[in-house]
Amino acid sequence: MKRIGIFGGTFDPPHLGHLIAAEKVREACVLDEVLFVPAALPPHKAGQSISESYHRLAMTELATQDNASFDVSDIELVRSGPSYTFDTLLALRSPMKVLSLIIGYDNFATFDTWHRYKEIAQLATLIVVARGPDRDDAADLPENVKLLELPLIDISSTEIRARVREGKSVRYLVPEPVREYIEREGLYR
Ligand code: ATP
Repeated sequence: MKRIGIFGGTFDPPHLGHLIAAEKVREACVLDEVLFVPAALPPHKAGQSISESYHRLAMTELATQDNASFDVSDIELVRSGPSYTFDTLLALRSPMKVLSLIIGYDNFATFDTWHRYKEIAQLATLIVVARGPDRDDAADLPENVKLLELPLIDISSTEIRARVREGKSVRYLVPEPVREYIEREGLYR
């Protein structure tokens, strides 16, 4: 049995906060693999300018390429229509795999509004990641949910996009191949 942690996000761009969190979760939950799953344009981010899927996929591949326990799936990008986590889990599950879903504490707060959330909880163990101040609120979670407390790494994709736009350095905030890709492709200008 292979233990897979599914880590969804926009990854526009992927940054060291994502990678540090993924590595800590992998270690703490003894996962064989963390699968990064870039999301198709999420409905709540429609209207904001999100980079093309192929850029986000390429950057996520560059960000994870040096870690043999990290992999990337384009499953939500090649599917048409909205990206439902339920459909992703259904497509990824196999008799050889135990799936976990890695979600932030803020997302978990609205988990019961997700499409077919009860089935999601049957298909995968939920790993709820609480960062910084969230850690105090996240104390009482249902028993089948695993809580993982992480230090707050204060990096966001929003900050990185803003820095690039302002001509500032993003060195040491994103992996070097991602920084080079952003520069080469002229993203976020
Ligand atoms: P944006 O600033 O564009 O909203 P983001 O930096 O939050 O982006 P996402 O791609 O939306 O990045 O995040 C994917 C997942 O990674 C989410 O579950 C989010 O909570 C988590 N995440 C984002 N930044 C960090 C960080 N610095 N440390 C740990 N987890 C993070």
